[in-house]
Amino acid sequence: GALSRRGCIKIRGPQLRELLDSKCNILFDCDGVIWEGEKAIPGAIEVVSLLKNQGKNVFFVTNNCTRPRDSYMQKFTRLGFTDVQKRDIFSSAYCSAVYLRDFANLQGKVFVIGGDGVYKELREAGVPFVESEPETPGMTISDCPLHSDVKAVLVAYDEDFNFLKLAKACCYLRDSECLFIASDPDPWHPVRGGRVTPGSGSLTAALETATNRKATVMGKPSRFMFECITSQCGADAAQSLMVGDRLETDILFGANCGLSTVLTLTGVSTIEEAQANLESDSPAKQNAVPDYVVDSIDVFLFIILH
Ligand code: PLP
Ligand code: CA
Repeated sequence: GALSRRGCIKIRGPQLRELLDSKCNILFDCDGVIWEGEKAIPGAIEVVSLLKNQGKNVFFVTNNCTRPRDSYMQKFTRLGFTDVQKRDIFSSAYCSAVYLRDFANLQGKVFVIGGDGVYKELREAGVPFVESEPETPGMTISDCPLHSDVKAVLVAYDEDFNFLKLAKACCYLRDSECLFIASDPDPWHPVRGGRVTPGSGSLTAALETATNRKATVMGKPSRFMFECITSQCGADAAQSLMVGDRLETDILFGANCGLSTVLTLTGVSTIEEAQANLESDSPAKQNAVPDYVVDSIDVFLFIILH
């Protein structure tokens, strides 16, 4: 529209410094912002450490639910990041466990479509769940045992996803009292060699179609992830900055929570896509416009050092 909000400002120099000076909480997405698979993005280690030295609160917000936070801690150390604490890490698996423990008033067990990261966070949070069930060849939904005490279905990234799991989840969700929770809505992810892997969102979509229900999303762009941070660390939205590489999750998350947003161009989304959102008439796309754009997180380094 003619009065479209400003945004997508390529930021550098003094303007970036002013922005950083006005924020005490910096939220970083992980994949595509501070690392790419098993490699730190150049400058990321120094930026995180310098921001911490300047007294900023640095948080990591990731929709990757495949690891528990202890394993993220090991990854941070392995890649060379120093003094990252477990309490700084907010993953979609951890936030799902927090929701089920503290907010869902769960009266039974959780049936999980997901992997190790989700199971470990649920166990650590003390949320009861149905243990992963080994496949019996030839078994169909007609002859497979179901648990009468399942009161929530949690769908996440699951490399062992199969038809029977989908069928079981459908049966549990026929009970309208059974909660339907999704770790994150990510449609797909880049992997090495230019290939992609389907994300949790694609599995959630299958279950939503089969049940004619909509899942409650825990990860970005849901505000719940920021509520997890505020409830545990008291972060104020007006003093917080979200740095991410994906418009429809990271940048929308920032907008939904009232945070300033920076898109980095080292990951999934492009500046052309950001500008297309800016010029779009769709309110949903308008909300996925970053306030600022940088080529890479290493631009922060220049500002901190000068
Ligand atoms: N989920 C899975 C399974 C992934 O592999 C990735 C990225 O590699 C993500 C989510 C996205 O993670 P982030 O939110 O840190 O970009
Ligand atoms: Ca990312």
